Amino acid sequence: MEDKVNFSETVEFLRSVIRRKTGFLRELEEYAKLHHIPIIQPESAALMRVLVKLHKPEKILEAGTAIGYSACILSDAMDGSGIIDTIEIDEDMAEMAKRNIKAMGYDKTIRVILGDALEVMECLSSSYDMIFLDAAKGQYNEYLKHALRLLRPGGLLVSDNVLYKGLVAQKDKVQHKHRTIAVKLREYIENICSDERLETSIIPVGDGMAISFKKGD
Ligand code: SAM
Repeated sequence: MEDKVNFSETVEFLRSVIRRKTGFLRELEEYAKLHHIPIIQPESAALMRVLVKLHKPEKILEAGTAIGYSACILSDAMDGSGIIDTIEIDEDMAEMAKRNIKAMGYDKTIRVILGDALEVMECLSSSYDMIFLDAAKGQYNEYLKHALRLLRPGGLLVSDNVLYKGLVAQKDKVQHKHRTIAVKLREYIENICSDERLETSIIPVGDGMAISFKKGD
């Protein structure tokens, strides 16, 4: 008989072995927890770091800055080199992110852009080695069109929260208030998995992370 895996025990174990952040990054984690700001989960952050080390991006675009935590994680993994453009719609959040990024010493490499991710992406034209989607989950399908245009061949598209607390897989059982997002994320997963230009893997890490490689290099 197949053993049923207890996923929360697995997550608890993983969090106990992942190297804990120290210093200011740890303070940012505690601030986010206290103020209910959804930042990237520890196991997802660890995966992002490995992706950066393997892929060695010089230019990253992030949609959804919040307090700047993931941008700092990415910059740290890039050893403080390269450029990260990160888009945030909330003015207070963007200001806080700028302060945090400066305190981390990454203000020369991370540029916080205040605005709606879709509108900003529509205006961008330079090419990125890696794009990290972590803004409005209901708009991932719209971001995709621009992400594909802005990502260089051989680039990586990383999308967080794609399994949305497991609700995306539940289909008809999802409560009304979550249904629209769950349906849109399901559609998004179907899109990135069927798109001939991408090679995609969905990893049930954190809230679900999709890693898509743009072919052509
Ligand atoms: N990436 C951050 C981290 O891990 O540290 C967390 C980002 S948080 C999950 C999502 C952020 O996206 C919030 O700060 C929210 O204000 C922002 N956001 C929501 N809708 C947006 C939009 N349409 N354009 C840009 N940012 C948006």
